Amino acid sequence: MYFPLQDIEAAKLNIDDPEHLRIHSLETFGTHDGPGIRMVIFVQGCQFRCLYCQNPDTLDVRGGTMVELRELVNRAIRQKSYFGDTGGVTVSGGEPLLQRSKLLTLFKMLHEEGINTCLDTNGRLNNAQVHDLLEHTDLLLLDVKHINDDIHHKLTGLTNRATLELAAYRESTGKRMWLRYVLVPGWTDQEQYLEEWAQHFSDYKTVERVEIIPFHQLGQHKWKLMNMEYPLKDTPTPSEEIRQMALGIFNKHFDNVILK
Ligand code: SF4
Repeated sequence: MYFPLQDIEAAKLNIDDPEHLRIHSLETFGTHDGPGIRMVIFVQGCQFRCLYCQNPDTLDVRGGTMVELRELVNRAIRQKSYFGDTGGVTVSGGEPLLQRSKLLTLFKMLHEEGINTCLDTNGRLNNAQVHDLLEHTDLLLLDVKHINDDIHHKLTGLTNRATLELAAYRESTGKRMWLRYVLVPGWTDQEQYLEEWAQHFSDYKTVERVEIIPFHQLGQHKWKLMNMEYPLKDTPTPSEEIRQMALGIFNKHFDNVILK
Protein backbone atom coordinates (compact mmCIF):
# COMPACT_ATOMS: atom_id res chain seq x y z
CA MET A 1 0.00 0.00 0.00
CA TYR A 2 1.53 3.26 -1.04
CA PHE A 3 -0.55 5.50 1.18
CA PRO A 4 -2.97 4.65 3.96
CA LEU A 5 -6.68 4.02 3.59
CA GLN A 6 -8.64 6.62 5.47
CA ASP A 7 -10.96 5.06 8.02
CA ILE A 8 -14.71 5.07 7.65
CA GLU A 9 -15.30 7.04 10.86
CA ALA A 10 -13.19 9.90 9.56
CA ALA A 11 -15.15 9.81 6.32
CA LYS A 12 -18.42 10.00 8.21
CA LEU A 13 -17.34 13.10 10.09
CA ASN A 14 -16.89 14.84 6.80
CA ILE A 15 -20.07 13.78 5.08
CA ASP A 16 -22.71 14.38 7.73
CA ASP A 17 -24.22 17.53 6.24
CA PRO A 18 -27.32 16.17 4.47
CA GLU A 19 -27.85 19.18 2.20
CA HIS A 20 -24.42 19.31 0.58
CA LEU A 21 -22.54 16.86 -1.58
CA ARG A 22 -18.75 16.74 -1.43
CA ILE A 23 -17.71 16.95 -5.04
CA HIS A 24 -14.45 17.08 -6.97
CA SER A 25 -15.72 18.58 -10.24
CA LEU A 26 -18.58 18.83 -12.69
CA GLU A 27 -18.70 18.07 -16.40
CA THR A 28 -21.58 19.70 -18.24
CA PHE A 29 -21.67 17.82 -21.55
CA GLY A 30 -20.27 14.39 -20.70
CA THR A 31 -20.56 11.62 -23.26
CA HIS A 32 -18.40 8.90 -21.66
CA ASP A 33 -20.31 7.98 -18.50
CA GLY A 34 -23.67 6.59 -19.50
CA PRO A 35 -25.98 7.10 -22.49
CA GLY A 36 -26.57 10.38 -24.31
CA ILE A 37 -25.41 13.80 -23.17
CA ARG A 38 -25.02 13.98 -19.43
CA MET A 39 -24.11 16.30 -16.61
CA VAL A 40 -21.48 14.29 -14.74
CA ILE A 41 -20.89 14.97 -11.07
CA PHE A 42 -17.52 13.64 -9.92
CA VAL A 43 -17.71 13.20 -6.17
CA GLN A 44 -14.76 13.41 -3.83
CA GLY A 45 -13.50 10.46 -1.77
CA CYS A 46 -12.81 6.80 -2.47
CA GLN A 47 -11.80 3.83 -0.33
CA PHE A 48 -10.31 1.81 -3.15
CA ARG A 49 -6.69 2.50 -4.01
CA CYS A 50 -6.50 1.23 -7.59
CA LEU A 51 -2.93 1.07 -8.83
CA TYR A 52 -4.10 2.54 -12.13
CA CYS A 53 -6.31 5.30 -10.70
CA GLN A 54 -6.39 8.19 -13.19
CA ASN A 55 -7.92 10.55 -10.65
CA PRO A 56 -5.86 10.29 -7.44
CA ASP A 57 -6.95 13.83 -6.60
CA THR A 58 -10.48 12.48 -5.96
CA LEU A 59 -9.42 9.98 -3.30
CA ASP A 60 -9.11 12.10 -0.16
CA VAL A 61 -12.46 12.07 1.67
CA ARG A 62 -11.63 15.41 3.27
CA GLY A 63 -10.93 17.25 0.00
CA GLY A 64 -13.21 18.64 -2.67
CA THR A 65 -15.95 21.25 -2.40
CA MET A 66 -19.30 21.10 -0.64
CA VAL A 67 -22.09 21.94 -3.10
CA GLU A 68 -25.75 22.22 -2.22
CA LEU A 69 -27.95 19.47 -3.66
CA ARG A 70 -30.47 22.07 -4.82
CA GLU A 71 -27.72 23.88 -6.75
CA LEU A 72 -26.82 20.65 -8.56
CA VAL A 73 -30.47 19.99 -9.43
CA ASN A 74 -30.91 23.56 -10.68
CA ARG A 75 -27.87 23.17 -12.93
CA ALA A 76 -29.30 19.92 -14.31
CA ILE A 77 -32.66 21.61 -14.97
CA ARG A 78 -30.89 24.37 -16.93
CA GLN A 79 -29.24 21.69 -19.07
CA LYS A 80 -32.30 19.50 -19.43
CA SER A 81 -33.10 20.45 -23.03
CA TYR A 82 -29.73 19.01 -24.11
CA PHE A 83 -30.31 15.65 -22.42
CA GLY A 84 -32.87 14.45 -25.00
CA ASP A 85 -34.46 11.04 -24.53
CA THR A 86 -31.37 9.20 -23.32
CA GLY A 87 -29.19 11.68 -21.39
CA GLY A 88 -29.40 12.96 -17.85
CA VAL A 89 -27.20 13.12 -14.78
CA THR A 90 -24.41 10.69 -13.87
CA VAL A 91 -22.71 10.60 -10.50
CA SER A 92 -19.18 9.25 -10.76
CA GLY A 93 -16.05 9.65 -8.70
CA GLY A 94 -14.14 9.10 -6.52
CA GLU A 95 -16.69 6.68 -5.11
CA PRO A 96 -20.32 7.82 -4.94
CA LEU A 97 -21.49 5.19 -2.43
CA LEU A 98 -19.58 6.98 0.36
CA GLN A 99 -22.29 9.67 0.12
CA ARG A 100 -25.19 7.32 -0.57
CA SER A 101 -27.86 8.94 1.63
CA LYS A 102 -27.30 12.35 0.03
CA LEU A 103 -27.36 10.78 -3.40
CA LEU A 104 -30.69 9.17 -2.60
CA THR A 105 -32.06 12.67 -1.91
CA LEU A 106 -30.41 14.03 -5.06
CA PHE A 107 -31.73 11.25 -7.30
CA LYS A 108 -35.26 11.67 -5.91
CA MET A 109 -35.06 15.41 -6.63
CA LEU A 110 -33.85 14.71 -10.17
CA HIS A 111 -36.65 12.21 -10.76
CA GLU A 112 -39.18 14.80 -9.61
CA GLU A 113 -37.84 16.94 -12.47
CA GLY A 114 -38.06 14.06 -14.93
CA ILE A 115 -34.26 13.75 -15.22
CA ASN A 116 -32.64 10.36 -15.81
CA THR A 117 -30.13 9.17 -13.16
CA CYS A 118 -27.03 7.08 -13.59
CA LEU A 119 -24.60 5.88 -10.90
CA ASP A 120 -20.99 4.95 -11.72
CA THR A 121 -19.58 2.92 -8.83
CA ASN A 122 -17.01 0.33 -7.82
CA GLY A 123 -19.77 -1.39 -5.81
CA ARG A 124 -17.85 -1.27 -2.57
CA LEU A 125 -21.00 -1.51 -0.43
CA ASN A 126 -24.05 -3.74 -0.62
CA ASN A 127 -26.58 -2.83 2.06
CA ALA A 128 -30.15 -1.56 2.48
CA GLN A 129 -29.15 2.10 2.00
CA VAL A 130 -27.45 1.26 -1.26
CA HIS A 131 -30.48 -0.76 -2.35
CA ASP A 132 -32.68 2.30 -1.70
CA LEU A 133 -30.36 4.38 -3.86
CA LEU A 134 -30.46 1.78 -6.63
CA GLU A 135 -34.28 2.02 -6.66
CA HIS A 136 -33.81 5.60 -7.87
CA THR A 137 -30.92 4.79 -10.22
CA ASP A 138 -32.15 4.36 -13.78
CA LEU A 139 -28.86 2.89 -14.94
CA LEU A 140 -26.08 1.38 -12.84
CA LEU A 141 -22.55 1.55 -14.24
CA LEU A 142 -20.67 -1.06 -12.23
CA ASP A 143 -16.88 -1.31 -12.38
CA VAL A 144 -15.83 -4.91 -11.76
CA LYS A 145 -12.09 -4.55 -11.63
CA HIS A 146 -11.02 -8.20 -11.36
CA ILE A 147 -12.81 -11.52 -10.90
CA ASN A 148 -10.03 -13.08 -8.82
CA ASP A 149 -10.25 -11.78 -5.29
CA ASP A 150 -6.51 -12.03 -4.50
CA ILE A 151 -5.61 -10.02 -7.59
CA HIS A 152 -8.49 -7.61 -6.96
CA HIS A 153 -7.09 -7.02 -3.50
CA LYS A 154 -3.60 -6.34 -4.84
CA LEU A 155 -5.00 -4.08 -7.57
CA THR A 156 -7.45 -2.03 -5.48
CA GLY A 157 -6.50 -2.61 -1.82
CA LEU A 158 -9.85 -4.28 -1.09
CA THR A 159 -11.94 -7.38 -1.84
CA ASN A 160 -14.33 -7.74 -4.79
CA ARG A 161 -16.95 -9.51 -2.66
CA ALA A 162 -19.33 -6.57 -2.17
CA THR A 163 -19.07 -5.64 -5.86
CA LEU A 164 -20.10 -9.12 -6.97
CA GLU A 165 -22.91 -9.19 -4.41
CA LEU A 166 -24.15 -5.81 -5.60
CA ALA A 167 -24.16 -7.02 -9.20
CA ALA A 168 -26.24 -10.04 -8.14
CA TYR A 169 -28.59 -7.77 -6.21
CA ARG A 170 -29.09 -5.48 -9.23
CA GLU A 171 -29.77 -8.52 -11.39
CA SER A 172 -32.43 -9.67 -8.90
CA THR A 173 -34.25 -6.32 -9.25
CA GLY A 174 -34.44 -6.58 -13.04
CA LYS A 175 -33.15 -3.02 -13.43
CA ARG A 176 -30.62 -1.97 -16.05
CA MET A 177 -26.84 -2.03 -15.67
CA TRP A 178 -23.67 -1.67 -17.69
CA LEU A 179 -20.50 -3.41 -16.57
CA ARG A 180 -17.12 -1.74 -16.98
CA TYR A 181 -13.69 -3.34 -17.11
CA VAL A 182 -10.38 -1.49 -17.20
CA LEU A 183 -7.88 -3.49 -19.30
CA VAL A 184 -4.40 -3.14 -17.80
CA PRO A 185 -1.39 -5.03 -19.23
CA GLY A 186 0.07 -7.38 -16.64
CA TRP A 187 -2.84 -6.87 -14.23
CA THR A 188 -6.21 -7.50 -15.86
CA ASP A 189 -5.35 -9.05 -19.23
CA GLN A 190 -5.03 -12.71 -18.22
CA GLU A 191 -7.12 -14.85 -20.62
CA GLN A 192 -8.17 -17.25 -17.87
CA TYR A 193 -9.59 -14.48 -15.70
CA LEU A 194 -11.20 -12.58 -18.56
CA GLU A 195 -13.03 -15.80 -19.40
CA GLU A 196 -13.98 -16.29 -15.74
CA TRP A 197 -15.19 -12.66 -15.48
CA ALA A 198 -17.34 -13.04 -18.58
CA GLN A 199 -18.74 -16.42 -17.50
CA HIS A 200 -19.67 -14.99 -14.11
CA PHE A 201 -22.03 -12.48 -15.73
CA SER A 202 -22.97 -14.21 -18.97
CA ASP A 203 -26.43 -15.31 -17.71
CA TYR A 204 -27.33 -11.88 -16.35
CA LYS A 205 -30.44 -10.47 -18.05
CA THR A 206 -29.97 -6.88 -16.84
CA VAL A 207 -26.52 -6.31 -18.37
CA GLU A 208 -27.28 -4.16 -21.41
CA ARG A 209 -23.72 -3.42 -22.27
CA VAL A 210 -20.13 -4.26 -21.29
CA GLU A 211 -17.45 -1.61 -21.70
CA ILE A 212 -13.75 -2.43 -21.99
CA ILE A 213 -11.70 0.61 -21.07
CA PRO A 214 -8.05 0.31 -22.12
CA PHE A 215 -5.58 1.58 -19.53
CA HIS A 216 -3.87 4.86 -20.45
CA GLN A 217 -1.30 7.13 -18.90
CA LEU A 218 -3.25 10.41 -19.04
CA GLY A 219 -3.52 10.63 -15.25
CA GLN A 220 0.19 10.22 -14.59
CA HIS A 221 0.82 13.94 -14.10
CA LYS A 222 -1.74 14.04 -11.27
CA TRP A 223 0.29 11.51 -9.28
CA LYS A 224 3.36 13.70 -9.75
CA LEU A 225 1.47 16.85 -8.76
CA MET A 226 0.35 15.12 -5.59
CA ASN A 227 3.89 13.93 -4.81
CA MET A 228 2.72 10.33 -4.88
CA GLU A 229 4.65 7.47 -6.40
CA TYR A 230 2.71 6.10 -9.38
CA PRO A 231 3.01 2.30 -9.29
CA LEU A 232 2.10 1.85 -12.98
CA LYS A 233 4.30 4.58 -14.40
CA ASP A 234 6.04 2.08 -16.69
CA THR A 235 2.94 0.14 -17.70
CA PRO A 236 2.12 0.46 -21.42
CA THR A 237 -1.32 0.89 -22.90
CA PRO A 238 -2.71 -2.48 -24.03
CA SER A 239 -1.58 -3.54 -27.50
CA GLU A 240 -4.09 -4.08 -30.30
CA GLU A 241 -3.58 -7.82 -29.83
CA ILE A 242 -4.51 -7.66 -26.14
CA ARG A 243 -7.53 -5.43 -26.87
CA GLN A 244 -8.82 -7.82 -29.51
CA MET A 245 -8.22 -10.84 -27.29
CA ALA A 246 -10.31 -9.27 -24.49
CA LEU A 247 -12.99 -8.18 -26.96
CA GLY A 248 -13.13 -11.68 -28.47
CA ILE A 249 -13.62 -13.32 -25.07
CA PHE A 250 -16.31 -10.87 -23.96
CA ASN A 251 -18.07 -11.06 -27.33
CA LYS A 252 -18.58 -14.80 -26.79
CA HIS A 253 -20.66 -14.06 -23.69
CA PHE A 254 -22.39 -10.70 -24.25
CA ASP A 255 -24.39 -9.19 -27.11
CA ASN A 256 -23.20 -5.62 -26.67
CA VAL A 257 -19.50 -5.15 -25.91
CA ILE A 258 -17.88 -1.78 -26.49
CA LEU A 259 -14.11 -1.39 -26.67
CA LYS A 260 -13.57 2.25 -25.78
S1 SF4 B 1 -12.36 3.14 -7.63
FE1 SF4 B 1 -11.99 4.75 -9.16
S2 SF4 B 1 -11.53 6.61 -7.99
FE2 SF4 B 1 -11.35 4.87 -6.58
S3 SF4 B 1 -9.15 4.35 -6.63
FE3 SF4 B 1 -10.19 3.05 -8.13
S4 SF4 B 1 -10.02 4.14 -10.09
FE4 SF4 B 1 -9.58 5.63 -8.44
